[in-house]
Amino acid sequence: MRFDLLTIFPEFFAGPFDFGIIRRARQQGLIEINIHDLRSFTFDKHHIVDDRPFGGGDGMVLKPEPIFRAVETLLADGTPGEGQKRTAVVLMSPQGRRFNQTEAEKLATECSRMILLCGRYEGVDERVIEHLMTDEISIDDYILMGGEIPAMVVVDAVTRLLPNVLGSETSAVHDSFSVSLGGLLDYPHYTRPAEFRGWQVPEVLISGHHGEVAKWRRREALLKTLRRRPDFVEKAGLTDEERRWLDDAGGETG
Ligand code: SAH
Repeated sequence: MRFDLLTIFPEFFAGPFDFGIIRRARQQGLIEINIHDLRSFTFDKHHIVDDRPFGGGDGMVLKPEPIFRAVETLLADGTPGEGQKRTAVVLMSPQGRRFNQTEAEKLATECSRMILLCGRYEGVDERVIEHLMTDEISIDDYILMGGEIPAMVVVDAVTRLLPNVLGSETSAVHDSFSVSLGGLLDYPHYTRPAEFRGWQVPEVLISGHHGEVAKWRRREALLKTLRRRPDFVEKAGLTDEERRWLDDAGGETG
């Protein structure tokens, strides 16, 4: 996967992509992350990227010319040969499709390249949205100062799902919301010591009984999801036994 981020604050990204698994994925060539300064795609000597809104009102709007020039330049510098996968040209926007684990999984499988445009001020000229973007992604219903943090969220979540990115120390398969868990929350985790300040690790986890451990984890994941995110339990396709667990716990499973 190749990520191209377009921003007026390229320095913003120093740090988040230089640690841990993302750093290793970059070093191994599993992903490529390029940060581009939108100002370098301007023609005027002051490198102006914004202007006042037509019709009046507060705030500034990102101008269309530098954005079109930047995206078209990046697209021309393509890396074809990645099979049939698509290039997503994405505006980070509170008005976009709401990002979640399912969306991340879709992007990770559908795309070989993502160009992420980070908005600022009041946002971008609407013609950018209509004629240049293929996608608009929101990271939820609140307004941030700019699209940089949302873009980091998308790069992080998508990278985590790409083949060979996670080592054996972590696995995306059992994460909360993942398809394989039927969209449930993750089960509780414990590590050594087995007793800490008098609090014991659940006996079954120390038993060495793999079947019982798996059952316990599934049950705990279900109960936790029922308590915190009942909306997910309804979608999870439960077995009769699992329904009984929830009924015994006094839950409504719909
Ligand atoms: N006036 C706009 C908000 C502009 S916020 C509106 O009301 O829709 C400035 C920029 O921050 C946006 O262009 C977008 O790129 C980014 N941004 C803010 N909140 C976001 C969110 N929840 N998800 C994704 N991007 C967001």
